[in-house]
Amino acid sequence: MSQQVTIVMYHYVRPLERSRFPTLKALSIERFVRQLDHIVAAYHPVTVEQILESLRSPGYELPPRSILLTFDDGYSDHFQHVFPHLDSRGIQGCFFPPVKAVLHHKVLDVNKIQFTLAAYPDPYALLNDVLSLLDEYRSEYELESVDDYRNRAREVHRYDSATVIAFKRLLQRELPEPVRRDIVNRLFQKYVTLDEAAFASELYMTPEQMSCMIRHGMHFGCHGYSHAWMDQLTTEAQSHEVDQSLGLLEKLGCAGKGWTMCYPYGGYNASLLKMLQDRGCQLGFSVEPRIADLAAENPLTLPRIDTNDLPS
Ligand SMILES: [Zn+2]
Repeated sequence: MSQQVTIVMYHYVRPLERSRFPTLKALSIERFVRQLDHIVAAYHPVTVEQILESLRSPGYELPPRSILLTFDDGYSDHFQHVFPHLDSRGIQGCFFPPVKAVLHHKVLDVNKIQFTLAAYPDPYALLNDVLSLLDEYRSEYELESVDDYRNRAREVHRYDSATVIAFKRLLQRELPEPVRRDIVNRLFQKYVTLDEAAFASELYMTPEQMSCMIRHGMHFGCHGYSHAWMDQLTTEAQSHEVDQSLGLLEKLGCAGKGWTMCYPYGGYNASLLKMLQDRGCQLGFSVEPRIADLAAENPLTLPRIDTNDLPS
């Protein structure tokens, strides 16, 4: 029997026009509330506990048109603008905060890139900034030619312009890790702020906010320590990411109760899945965009659709 569940993924939900970064790619609160109204009318929101029950007990059926809402990266948006709307409708949200962001007040590289783009909305100039910095790193790292990096900018993407894509790709994946981390920092300091800790405190949830959400029935799961592509890490580094993340759940008092993992950027591999299985992880969330069928799916690699792709 099919056990379909639509799992939706959200990131920023905020009032953009009143913020310092009106061009940030975010869902407005009005659109979020409209989507929630549609979800309540057309779907049955379910909880992680119901999904686990349906996996454990063959006779247990999820309601038709089941839907689960997930929120990545631990933004304070989720406490301020998401939680009250979920709570008043009796919907459980699943939240995945990276440890480095919510406990150590460091801004994730992915967020530094997004806010740099939002603070200085000329992606062509930003891309040139990155390319012009590369020579400083050539003596220490093996880098490709500026033309090679620039040529990749010609590919197209659904959501972003080719230049934005090239900029993000260079800084998220293509350059050697120490080079991109350093350049991301330099751009963030130049265009956004020198006070990373203050910025992080504003951007991410606090442990008190998370505890409050848990008391109201919200689910919290692992999203790693540093928001790395986990498929690119050694087994040892993967283990460190998982340890740190489980440490946060323990601190919040929700470790051990059917813990879940959401892969940053959707990146996982066989060694990570094996480790999660051995350590009792119950559900894993990827970014493969389709509707999940729990009867057929590996519970550790559940697909999720983006909020922008939810039919309304
Ligand atoms: Zn994430």
